[in-house]
Amino acid sequence: MDIQNEYLRGLMERVAARNPAEPEFHQAVKEVLISLSPVVEARPEYITEGVMDCLVEPERTIKFRVPWEDDQGKIHVNRGFRIQFSSAIGPYKGGLRFHPSVYEGIIKFLGFEQIFKNSLTGLPIGGGKGGSDFDPKGKSDTEVMRFCQSFMNELFKYIGPDTDVPAGDIGVGAREIGYLFGQYKRLANEFNGVLTGKGLTYGGSLARKEATGYGLCYFTDNMLKAAGKSFEGATVVISGSGNVALYACEKATALGGKVVAMSDSNGYVYDKDGIDLSLMKQIKEVERKRIKVYAERRPGVEYHEGCSGVWQIPCQIALPCATQNELDEASAKALIQNGCFAVAEGANMPCTPEAVDVIQAAGLLFAPAKAANAGGVAVSALEMSQNSMRFSWTFQEVDDRLKTIMTDLYHNAANAAEKYGMAGNLVAGANIAGFLKVADSMLAYGLV
Ligand code: NDP
Repeated sequence: MDIQNEYLRGLMERVAARNPAEPEFHQAVKEVLISLSPVVEARPEYITEGVMDCLVEPERTIKFRVPWEDDQGKIHVNRGFRIQFSSAIGPYKGGLRFHPSVYEGIIKFLGFEQIFKNSLTGLPIGGGKGGSDFDPKGKSDTEVMRFCQSFMNELFKYIGPDTDVPAGDIGVGAREIGYLFGQYKRLANEFNGVLTGKGLTYGGSLARKEATGYGLCYFTDNMLKAAGKSFEGATVVISGSGNVALYACEKATALGGKVVAMSDSNGYVYDKDGIDLSLMKQIKEVERKRIKVYAERRPGVEYHEGCSGVWQIPCQIALPCATQNELDEASAKALIQNGCFAVAEGANMPCTPEAVDVIQAAGLLFAPAKAANAGGVAVSALEMSQNSMRFSWTFQEVDDRLKTIMTDLYHNAANAAEKYGMAGNLVAGANIAGFLKVADSMLAYGLV
């Protein structure tokens, strides 16, 4: 699909030229500009007042050196990033990703998406993202600690509870957040809510760990119900076996689905009787081992090398929860051929644009990441509120709020799509609903 509006088409060309060799960022911007064509035609001031040009340029990009020493005394140097994309509706908010594939383009695409996602939650949070090309896999706890401390030595200058509030993402879980917060507290000499995803003993929110996966299933449940379908009795395939995937598996099962497959970056397991989640959590959360071990410990489970094969397994609901561009056109066609009726994105941008086109053309229900995985950042914002109040809500209270947020979010996206003549297209609906609040705030500020 191409961008219909001429000005936005030119803007896309400038984005590609000014940000060379950053295909993920181009992909994310193009998807949004396609959806916004009818909006700028109805409201040309978004173009004439400079909103569109400002929106695709980060407010601030911070790039820094992260030197650290391994257990053998050898020095390594990684790169750190924080992209503060938009503070139009609140402090910059978005996770930190530690993965060898991280470079400026990945952080830029994630930061850009975060603007709209955060706006969609209805909470006052701007968009940002950060990370490093450091790989925590195979490192000892002390090596991860030294890396996190060195990373924070630089990052702490740019963040604050009312300025920029990072969280976790791929490779940054409870252990890393602990090391990062400990070092921040030491440097700033303040105990505040500067990070979310914190441990429960030092200001974390109940239900934050579960929030993205649970929120994905609440959103999907709304989408399914509107189409007269449900999780009840459906076969579900989930990619990944990290934070999002594990808690999507938990909630999909609670809602009556049967999850038969999960993966990691080496391969996938097919468990026709339904995933034993406590065994999977033991292997992934506690022992930090490969998914292959699940098949070794549970009789009758198949293990296959390579992660894209997971989409060949017949299912009715597919939840990609691993990483960007992991579900391509061929995988989408296999899902359709095998009777899949809904795809909901738990990871950020897991479906390629070609896959999304094929899925939508075949009439499947499709929940885009920006809306469907917003539960994590929504509960992060609830963690910020609890930190400000120096007060904690119960698990039930947070989960109830999450459910309400995801239901409202579904209806906002569905209504925006309908209003702009694209009923049922939640990609367009999410982009438009997320954009309007940010764009109107930018108009109110004048040129800044
Ligand atoms: P984790 O690090 O906990 O888990 C990531 C999972 O994806 C692991 O199973 C990992 O396997 C797999 N994976 C990573 N890279 C690849 C790859 N290149 N190919 C195949 N599999 C891969 O991360 P999260 O669960 O937190 O994040 C998953 C996705 O969800 C990301 O896109 C993230 O941006 C998004 N997200 C996360 C939120 C959160 O609250 N955590 C909030 C919103 C979005 P392996 O262990 O082998 O690397």
